[in-house]
Amino acid sequence: MDTVTHAFIGLICGEMAPKDIKHRRKIGLAFGMLPDITNVILVHPYLGWLAGRTIPFALGIDFINFPEILDHWTYHVWLLSHSLLFWAIVFAPFWKRSSAAKLATIAYVSHIIADIPSHTGAYGLEPFYPIPYIFDGWFDAWLWGPGPIAASILGFGLAYLAVRRIRTEWLIWPSERQVEPDLSGTP
Ligand SMILES: [Zn+2]
Repeated sequence: MDTVTHAFIGLICGEMAPKDIKHRRKIGLAFGMLPDITNVILVHPYLGWLAGRTIPFALGIDFINFPEILDHWTYHVWLLSHSLLFWAIVFAPFWKRSSAAKLATIAYVSHIIADIPSHTGAYGLEPFYPIPYIFDGWFDAWLWGPGPIAASILGFGLAYLAVRRIRTEWLIWPSERQVEPDLSGTP
C-alpha cells in the first residue's frame, strides 16, 4: 500500500476513536504511516543509490532488478517495523496506559494488516520477523503505477468521509453523550 492510503486508513481509525482522546485524528494518521518511515529513510534511498539513480530514491522496478536488497540490513529494518511480533513487543504493552496508546496501537497494526495481503512472493511480509516465515500475499500494491495508486487514495479518502458522516450521525460513544439537563421540575 502507498503511504497516503495508509494515512487515510490511520485517519479512519482516529475518526472512529472516542472524541475524548486528544488529537485522535493526528494520532491515527501518524501511527498509520509510521511503519513506512523505515522505507522512506532507509530502503528507498539505499536501493536508489544501488540502482544508480540521480536522485537516490528507488522506484518499484528497482526491487525487481536488484533483489539483493532482500539481504540488506535496511530491508530487514523494514521487515522488523512491519512485523506483528515487533508490534506485540513495542506497542501492545502500552495498551493499558491510555486510550491514546490504544489508538496508536490499533493504527499501527492497521498498517501491517493492510500490507500483509498487498505484498507477494519474496517481497511478502514476514509477520513474525525475525522468524523467517514469508506470507505470500494476493497482489502487489507496491508495484502499482500512478493510476491504481490514485484510485486507492481516492477510495480510502471517500471511505474516510463516509466514516466521518457515520461518526456524526450514528456512532456516538457513551463518553460523547451529553448529559440531558433534568427539566422535569421534580425535586
Ligand atoms: Zn508498509
